[in-house]
Amino acid sequence: MSLSFCLHPLTGSTQGRLGTLKLSKTDPSTDSQLPECIETPTCIVPTQRGTVPHVTPDHFNTIPGLGAVVMFAEHLVEQRSHPVLRYSNTSDPSTGGDGHHFFNLAHHWLCLDMRDPRQQHQAAHHSNKFYRAETISGVKPVTLEDYLDLVRALQPEMFVALADDLNSLDETEGRFKRSVGRTLQWLDQCLAQRPNPTTGVWGVLKGGPLLDQRIFSAQQTATRPVDGFLLNDLSLAKDVALQQEWIKTSVAHLPLDKPRMVYGMDHPFSILDAVSKGIDVFDSYYAKRLAENGQAIAFHLDESTLKSKSDAEVTSASADGNNSTKLPLTRDLNDPVYKADFTPLDRMCSCYACAHYTRAYLHHLFITEEMLGKVLLMIHNLTLFADFFKYIRQSIQQGTFDQQVSRFKDTYDSYSH
Ligand SMILES: [Zn+2]
Repeated sequence: MSLSFCLHPLTGSTQGRLGTLKLSKTDPSTDSQLPECIETPTCIVPTQRGTVPHVTPDHFNTIPGLGAVVMFAEHLVEQRSHPVLRYSNTSDPSTGGDGHHFFNLAHHWLCLDMRDPRQQHQAAHHSNKFYRAETISGVKPVTLEDYLDLVRALQPEMFVALADDLNSLDETEGRFKRSVGRTLQWLDQCLAQRPNPTTGVWGVLKGGPLLDQRIFSAQQTATRPVDGFLLNDLSLAKDVALQQEWIKTSVAHLPLDKPRMVYGMDHPFSILDAVSKGIDVFDSYYAKRLAENGQAIAFHLDESTLKSKSDAEVTSASADGNNSTKLPLTRDLNDPVYKADFTPLDRMCSCYACAHYTRAYLHHLFITEEMLGKVLLMIHNLTLFADFFKYIRQSIQQGTFDQQVSRFKDTYDSYSH
């Protein structure tokens, strides 16, 4: 399989880009259940130790619009030798295989990255020889060869080149510069030594708060034969305005014809702003975080749903004594207001949770801390999060993205998540 990206030509004044990530079979005899294409803008689903949190693959496979997951090597190096390394080495195809088989994720592209961007990291600095990975059993030094062994074992459709990740904005200017240089050095090594030349490689853009270094990192990475670009340091920015500024600075120096991915966009308003700046792929951690807190996504981007929700729920919010004319982005199922609410979680949603359960039952699951509550909310949140991207693509296609974004921001309360 080899990865390519095609940017769709658009007419009109709409902002945002519409593209297609495509897998081409290098061996036509390969029998694959993977999607051939992923339309962008889209989201990629982060895993925890190779599994999508809270849902089984059976449930995950029923959620439309999610084409890829990302695994993190720092979850897989906790053991001295992860079983997937041995699993991939067996010569018997009935007892071995790649990451798709081992983790039972046959219907989604795999992306491997080193660091889980949503984990708190304290590990001391990396060196030219060792990446210091933070695991539940302490800091583990990982070499580039160790990382590429995991690429070889998992056989993902794409992986993120090793990068010199930093943990805080308090690092010195010299350290940020060294991070840019080492990240480029490791990128060159990953490109030269990747186990399979058809596996897509994402180059990581660095530079932190140093705008000249952000520009240098983007320009230099763009000269390499990468398949896409990742900004994974946005969590270092102190606010969303600075995140958007960093995105703008980096993206201005990238070629148009390759995809750009970001980690760390934790608000639908920020995602829309980043789409307008030319970002194509986001992570879906937001949907998981909300589910774990008992919060159901309640926002919709499509025009008809926006209209009907506005009419129905603003009236309802007024009746509840809520003076805001804007709607909440999420619904907190811990709230006792749902104790006797026997309506579906979201009438506009077609997911398993909304088809089978009431708000009252979900409230009951959360106040009694039943595991099923998170399972159902994860299904619901991923469904509506994927829908959000579907309507982003649709509005870009129709040339109405700007209007939809304005309407969305006028409809929803930005602080209600
Ligand atoms: Zn639902």
